[in-house]
Amino acid sequence: IPKVKNIIIFHMKKIKSQTNSEIISFIKSIYKNQKYIALHEPRFTGNEKKYLKECVDSSFVSTVGKFVQIVENKITNYTGAKYAIATSNGTSALHIALLLAEVGSENEVITQPLTFVATCNAIRYCNANPIFLDVDKDTMGLSPKALKIFLRKNTKIKNKKCINLNTKKVIKACVPMHTYGHPCKIDEIKEICDEHHITLIEDSAESLGSFYKGRHTGTFGELGTISFNGNKVITAGGGGCIITNKKFLAEKAKHLTTTAKIQHKWNYDHDMIGYNYRMPNLNAALLVAQLEKLNEYLKNKRFIAQKYENFFQNLDIKFFKEPQNSKSNYWLNSIIFTNKNKKDKFLKDSNLNGVVTRPVWILMNKLPMFKYHQKGNLINSEWLFERVVNLPSSVQL
Ligand SMILES: *Cc1c(COP(=O)(O)O)cnc(C)c1O
Repeated sequence: IPKVKNIIIFHMKKIKSQTNSEIISFIKSIYKNQKYIALHEPRFTGNEKKYLKECVDSSFVSTVGKFVQIVENKITNYTGAKYAIATSNGTSALHIALLLAEVGSENEVITQPLTFVATCNAIRYCNANPIFLDVDKDTMGLSPKALKIFLRKNTKIKNKKCINLNTKKVIKACVPMHTYGHPCKIDEIKEICDEHHITLIEDSAESLGSFYKGRHTGTFGELGTISFNGNKVITAGGGGCIITNKKFLAEKAKHLTTTAKIQHKWNYDHDMIGYNYRMPNLNAALLVAQLEKLNEYLKNKRFIAQKYENFFQNLDIKFFKEPQNSKSNYWLNSIIFTNKNKKDKFLKDSNLNGVVTRPVWILMNKLPMFKYHQKGNLINSEWLFERVVNLPSSVQL
């Protein structure tokens, strides 16, 4: 009898299907019928002005100052990583993380085609080439299965190095990304990387506040990177962070991001080519206030996600729920359409009506600067590209 009941409910649920204008009205109702509803805008509801004033008054607005230290302490406390190094943005954090993994011109780096362009730019800044492997449909992040198959078919291990049989280059690192804040199957990826002597770097730019099996994203790999850009869960205006458990990597990260200057009371002495990638104190001041609000914002974001989930239950449109074993920050809420035409029509209807929605990024392997790089079968990435739309996800005021 319970089985029959389930079938009836299932059919009843299938019947109802809302129009684009009904969906748009629903989104407007979440955001108090504002005229223009952004995809993700920051909120400044805490000590932002207070700390910024304090920072300006102190005259320490640049790369030295107490707020940078506070940021790093708060990040290690929150994520459980032993060390955090604050950077000018998430892209510079990725660049340095790849350099720390000793990625260079004779190397290749595995990543996913479904990501923001910064992931691949950072790989090319190191003169290495990306290899694009598919994502899983249930996480939108790098697929451990695709990774395993690719490595089995295309590589051999020699002197503890993973050699790509097609190019004879060493695959040095793997950079999965936790798409829209949803953790990928990072423990499986970690295991495969370890077996193949590949350094794991997690692009956790979008996943501050997301946990996999109780552990914060970005702490599974040797290195993790976070972004505090204006559109992320919390913002420094511009900013980023490298997290790691290894002291020597943390020390080197700090050194590389601060022009490789040797500490001295008055001398200017540098021992390698460094970068001006340190987070300015002014940005850190803003970020400290934002970090104080992180848990409150995350709660609110789950609340919004729940509203979307309830709304889309009756539709042939599927709400993208946090994957198994995961607690997502629900940075950007996503829905999956049954086909490309319906998706395109919705994008047009919503954006022309003051509700900002976005398709996923054009796949990296389609961009002119990356289209000649090696890739695997990208069937899931293509499938998601045709169907996924991001909905407004800012914290509600
Ligand atoms: C935002 C983002 C970055 C880059 O961060 P910035 O702070 O904007 O430089 C890198 N990777 C992904 C996946 C991102 O979403």
